[in-house]
Amino acid sequence: MMRLQDYPTEPRYTATVLSTEALTEDGADVEVRELVMAVDEHDFNFEIGQSIGVLVEGAEEFGHPIHHRLYTVADLPSPSQDGRPEITIVVRRCSYLDDYSGEEYVGVNSNYLCDRKTGDRVTITGPFGMPFKVPDDRTANLLLIGLGTGIAPFRALVKHIYRDVRDWQGKVRLLYGAHTGLELLYMNDRRDDFSNYYDEETFEAFKALSPRPNWADPIAWDYAIEDRIGEIRDMLDDDHTYVYVAGQRRIRDELDRLFGDLYGKAVWEEKKAALRNEGRWVELLY
Ligand SMILES: Cc1cc2nc3c(=O)[nH]c(=O)nc-3n(C[C@H](O)[C@H](O)[C@H](O)COP(=O)(O)OP(=O)(O)OC[C@H]3O[C@@H](n4cnc5c(N)ncnc54)[C@H](O)[C@@H]3O)c2cc1C
Repeated sequence: MMRLQDYPTEPRYTATVLSTEALTEDGADVEVRELVMAVDEHDFNFEIGQSIGVLVEGAEEFGHPIHHRLYTVADLPSPSQDGRPEITIVVRRCSYLDDYSGEEYVGVNSNYLCDRKTGDRVTITGPFGMPFKVPDDRTANLLLIGLGTGIAPFRALVKHIYRDVRDWQGKVRLLYGAHTGLELLYMNDRRDDFSNYYDEETFEAFKALSPRPNWADPIAWDYAIEDRIGEIRDMLDDDHTYVYVAGQRRIRDELDRLFGDLYGKAVWEEKKAALRNEGRWVELLY
């Protein structure tokens, strides 16, 4: 896996913020914003599943004059009204507690991005990586599992499948975890983008929330998929299924626990390794 310091910070592009909108509902413990930006340079091309880098200058206290962080594109590539490439990203405002002092520090780039206003300019790099490809076979099943901002690449992928590829015959199942209903992105009262596909016979989305949101408990994936466990197991056992996982790193442990319980730990480890080797289990974790 590539380390962040290995990602090149050149060439650099300038993007102008076209819009910024809160995706989380009022009262949620976290703030997640959607930023739509137009890249000034017309030759900036990217594909679904890729991430862009954002550079913020002046974070010298960590010994780095420039702070470089990655954000996954959340929409299909499309030109803005004046023909510049348009990028949508989804950013969670981060802060961290220092274990020793107990002081709270704000994350540099996420706060920088969440504070940008329409018309502000941002320096970006990339695009990088391309974890999630659409299988050539339209009867392939896709099990998409996202946590928090991990919904970003799936928003673009699902849109691409039903808008551009069309006539998808395999099952597309989106399993989406968040701490509370207020933190479900693109699937809440404020915005429900996935409702565009609820009429598609092959598409179904379901949500997993934490049983005790204030305790930072793991997401209760097991409750959410209890009545679908048969279908999910059938999908995992079908060699036409691709499993794509995105979001914070802890989702990996939560899924290993869940599927380890379902199959038995050793069997699951072997099964996951086989899926991985065949390119049918792909993770975008951070
Ligand atoms: C491939 C990839 C895709 C990603 N996609 C997304 C995405 O779509 N959306 C999204 O929101 N995020 C995404 N991320 C995560 C994102 O890149 C950043 O890691 C995240 O936004 C936090 O960056 P930051 O600059 O705000 O925090 P940072 O400032 O980098 O803080 C991060 C670390 O520094 C420590 N720290 C911070 N401040 C201090 C301080 N003052 N003193 C001491 N320690 C401190 C914290 O403990 C923390 O561990 C992605 C990451 C990767 C690798």
